[in-house]
Amino acid sequence: MAVALGRRVMDYVVDYLDQLASEPALHTGDAGKAVAEMVRAPGEKPGDLDRLLAALDGAARTGVNTASGGYLAYFPSGGLTSSALGELLALTLNRYPGYASIAPGLVAMEHGVIRWLCDEFGLPTGAGGLVMTGGSMATLPAVVAARDNRGQGLIYVGEHTHHCIAKAAHIAGMRDRVRIIPSTSDFRLDVSLAARMVAEDRAAGLRPMMLVATAGATSTGLVDPLDDLGQLARREDLWFHVDGAYGAPYQLTSRGRERLAGIELADSIVLDPHKSLFLPYGTGMLLVRNERTLHRAHAASADYLQDLDDFPDLPDFATLGPELSRESRGPRIWLPLHLHGVAAFREALDEKIDLARWVYDELRREPSLELPWTPDLTVVGFRKASGNRELLHRIHSGGEVFLSSTRIGGRFTLRLCPQSLRTHAAEAESAVRVILSEVRG
Ligand SMILES: *Cc1c(COP(=O)(O)O)cnc(C)c1O
Repeated sequence: MAVALGRRVMDYVVDYLDQLASEPALHTGDAGKAVAEMVRAPGEKPGDLDRLLAALDGAARTGVNTASGGYLAYFPSGGLTSSALGELLALTLNRYPGYASIAPGLVAMEHGVIRWLCDEFGLPTGAGGLVMTGGSMATLPAVVAARDNRGQGLIYVGEHTHHCIAKAAHIAGMRDRVRIIPSTSDFRLDVSLAARMVAEDRAAGLRPMMLVATAGATSTGLVDPLDDLGQLARREDLWFHVDGAYGAPYQLTSRGRERLAGIELADSIVLDPHKSLFLPYGTGMLLVRNERTLHRAHAASADYLQDLDDFPDLPDFATLGPELSRESRGPRIWLPLHLHGVAAFREALDEKIDLARWVYDELRREPSLELPWTPDLTVVGFRKASGNRELLHRIHSGGEVFLSSTRIGGRFTLRLCPQSLRTHAAEAESAVRVILSEVRG
């Protein structure tokens, strides 16, 4: 039974991947039938696998296909198949990684990836971290650790900081303590303004606690001056958090490493392997300069956990974050890295930087378009003098490409990010062709 089921599902996976290249980025048809089919309560009697797979396939063909090469919105990942297979292995083994003594081998897998990344970012011995389900989730224990380490106080963020910081601050009981620092005219966090606001708050008897820099802002993809902000944080004894959910993995490339200089000063770094390491949705990571800061903020004991022994040189992840029971998140990231090799990731990220630069140069030649910034990494923004919302709708109407938009200085701005593992020169060329034809049309 299990064998037949496995073979049939694998056949579906292979067929699906085979035709993925010709899938539209946006399914423009009516999703009503698929939704009605999927929302049905389970029946008492066994279902038929082929019928169920057909229903699943119908569901997959609704909405935005974030796995397609034409998906250029927000931050695409594409989703490495090797990672999906790693997840199948993880859930098949079904081991519990909360305490190292229960599953030392699987905990070591996660720990190994964390240690490797800590080294890539220049964090010292004693650094550690956690694999969570996304950047927002990974941010929460960072904010809690900062609070417990420095004591409740003010959190300084930039105008373009992701809202996950404010959310985490809210959950951690510091909703009213978030200070927004306006950007410079080139859309980056203004360091001298930050220094002034911190000094004024201190003079007013308040307690500055945490400074958040962004390595690759969600709207613009631009990197804040990490080195200057890190120095400011050191001088002012603030917890220095770098939100690199999107941008931090570019550290694996030489151009990215140049842009991210100063990230080694961070007390905590968030990065999303489900964005820029091409993993499927569901993997975000937190790295901290000192693993003990996470432990102090999250360790708890309970009578029913008294049988759990320490395991030498491996962390107990349940004591470093909010989760107790969870799946083993090692295989989904360990397998792709070891199977493809790190060079494959460096090359893929370099390819995406080149693609973004190419798209930028192509769009810049169109006189009716304004491009408010030059990409640091892989986000290209553009707009016309007016009618940008309609332009976005027209670009999407064929279903071939899917972009997103934001507001920059109050102005509606289209953005695209050619970062999916399935986006290559041909897909970037299609996107430019569709955009220019709608801009000129
Ligand atoms: C995407 C993103 C986040 C949030 O990560 P999720 O994985 O979506 O929860 C946080 N910060 C930045 C800069 C992001 O781009």
